[in-house]
Parts: sequence; C-alpha cells; structure tokens
Amino acid sequence: MTNTLDPVIKSIDIIVPAFNESGNIHPFNEAVKAVFASLPQYNYQIIFINDGSSDQTREVLVSLAAIDQRVAYLDFSRNFGKDNALAAGLNASKGDAAVTIDADLQHPPALIKEMIAHWEKGFEVVYAHREFANEHTSFLNKQTSHWFYKLVNQLSDIELEDGISDFRLIDKKVVTILNSLQEQDLFYRGLIKWVGFQQKSIPYIPDKRAFGETKYSTTALFKLAIRGITSFTTKPLYIATYLGFTFSLLSLLYIPYIVISLVWEHPVSGWASVIATIAFFGGMQLMILGIIGTYLGKLFMQSKQRPHYIIRESKLP
Ligand code: UDP
Ligand code: MG
Repeated sequence: MTNTLDPVIKSIDIIVPAFNESGNIHPFNEAVKAVFASLPQYNYQIIFINDGSSDQTREVLVSLAAIDQRVAYLDFSRNFGKDNALAAGLNASKGDAAVTIDADLQHPPALIKEMIAHWEKGFEVVYAHREFANEHTSFLNKQTSHWFYKLVNQLSDIELEDGISDFRLIDKKVVTILNSLQEQDLFYRGLIKWVGFQQKSIPYIPDKRAFGETKYSTTALFKLAIRGITSFTTKPLYIATYLGFTFSLLSLLYIPYIVISLVWEHPVSGWASVIATIAFFGGMQLMILGIIGTYLGKLFMQSKQRPHYIIRESKLP
C-alpha cells in the first residue's frame, strides 16, 4: 500500500486582548484574513478577549462573530488587565500553536507568516522584539521602555531583551505548560523566558496605533516594571537589607562625631543635621517597608486563589 497521507492541516489560534478597541476589530480581522490567504495549509481562528471595554468593542465582536466563522470571543465581566486576558485566550486555545498579538495593529500581522516558518523549523516559541528605527514611538516612550528592561534585567534572574513584546507564537506544548502555572500575578513577558524551550526572537518595527489610544500611561508602565521585578526575584529584599545595614554602620560612625563635637563644646546647632537625618532615614525606612509590603501583598493575593478573570459570555467554536 502506498503512503497516501494528506498533508496535515495545522491550526493556529490568534489571541487578541481588546480593551476599548471597537475601531480596530474589523481592520484587524481583515489583516489576519489577508495573511492566512497566503497560508492555505493552515487553519486559523481569532479569539478576541473583550477586557471590560467601555466602548462598543463587545457589540462589534458579537456582530462580527455572527457572520465570521473564524471569529470567537470571550467577554470579561470587567477589566482584568492584558496579562489576564492573554491567560483566558491561552486557556481557550486548542490549536497546534497560539499567537498572541495586540488588537491595535501595532504588531504587524504580516509577521505571523515568518513566525510560523520558524515554528515549522522547530522553534517552540517565536517572539517579536521592537526595533526602534521608527517615528511612531515617542522619545519618552523609548526611554522608559529602555530603562524598564535595564531595571528588570539588573534586578531579576531572567534576561529580558530590550523591546521584547507580547507578540509571539507559542507551540501547543508550551501553551499547556503556561496554562498549568499556579501564578497569581501573571507577567507573560517574563514567564515565557522562564519556561525555556527552543526560542527564537525576530525584530519588528511597531506601526502607529490604528484607532484609539494607548492604555499604558507612564505610571502604568512604572507599575508594570514593579510587577515584572517582584514576580521574578526577591533580590530587592536583599537590597533592602544591605541598605539598612550600610546606613546603620554609617550612623555608628556618626555617633563618635557627635561626641567629639560635644567635647569641643559646640552650641546646640544641630537642628539642620537632625532634620536631614530624620528625613533621610524616614525615607529609607518607608522605601524598605514598601518593598517588603509589595512581596507580602503578592503572598496575600496568592493565598486567596482568586481566578484571573471572570467570563460573562463567550462564543467559542
Ligand atoms: N489591553 C487589554 N487590557 C488592558 C490594557 C490593554 O486587553 O487593560 C490590550 C489593548 O486592547 C491592546 C493591547 O492590550 O490590544 C496593548 O495595549 P496598548 O496598545 O494600549 O499598549 P501599548 O501598545 O501602548 O504598549
Ligand atoms: Mg498598542
């Protein structure tokens, strides 16, 4: 008997968190359709996650899913944040690979083709990192992003490349592992590195946001940096200890100085130095308490074992 195996059609799930992206849903769907038109050997479906949008995103998704077989959606009961939306999408994914991508077309869907090609060569994770050779990203944005990765790399035990994004293809094997993690505070950019496997990084130039505005202000990015660091390392706790130790030593040196100045009969002129010392040590103590509190807060949240998200309604195939 001759071997008459059909070429196996593989299926790819495109996972798209959407928070107030009503104007981007249709253009995004068309862009993905265009990519897969040139990839007939792959089946695909798009899983949108409506992350508690306050605009028409939900309505747009419901009507699009009604006419387009390839469009599925999950509708959250409120905003749970991008990483939790990604978790929901990965949990719903049954394909041979999943691609996580932003809804605003800043992650060029055309790159999915290249990702699939690397995946077929055996890479289990193919992720895109930002090249900054473009005018769509502001100077401040570039700088904060640069500092963000510098800080995370300095402080944590995982190596994140500058500009690593949430645009990536993940093999089913890795999706299963990610879905089994019991982590309360999900930070996929770090987790993906942490799980290992054969990984490949490809560059991309982010496009301008198609519709709407970024959801990440500078304060939100700062919060993200703190989450990124505290999810992967306890080094800041050691830093707190070292700092405390160093300043205790320094103040020990300060005491002989006070004694000597008493001996030399200086009048009570120490007001400025006392205030400065109190303010400085007060600040240090608050900072260190803050660091400890952040970790304690994580333990607290983890101990509650709350779900990452709540789905109000869904349409999955
Ligand atoms: N997003 C989300 N929940 C949020 C914030 C953002 O699902 O709470 C989605 C958003 O709809 C987009 C992606 O995450 O698809 C990236 O967000 P954004 O474009 O605002 O981030 P930026 O590209 O500016 O880093
Ligand atoms: Mg964006």
